[in-house]
Amino acid sequence: MSQKRSSDHQKAQKEGKELDAYMCFFCNKVDQKNHGHHIILFSENGSASTDNIITLCPECHRAYHAGRLKIDIGRF
Ligand SMILES: [Zn+2]
Ligand SMILES: [Zn+2]
Repeated sequence: MSQKRSSDHQKAQKEGKELDAYMCFFCNKVDQKNHGHHIILFSENGSASTDNIITLCPECHRAYHAGRLKIDIGRF
């Protein structure tokens, strides 16, 4: 079961990045290595769907998780 959830997740992350054309939500940098970030954590009932994923470059992703960036979600 957990196996299936995590593969759904990987699929959604990949789809989310493709939807954003691999462009970072904050700095607009485009890189295939950009990350898929879950807006609502999976552990807080965030869904494994592309609605819940934004693309962040590694620097912005790190800054976000360090509390240095705030996401003002316009996507919902
Ligand atoms: Zn993240
Ligand atoms: Zn960025």
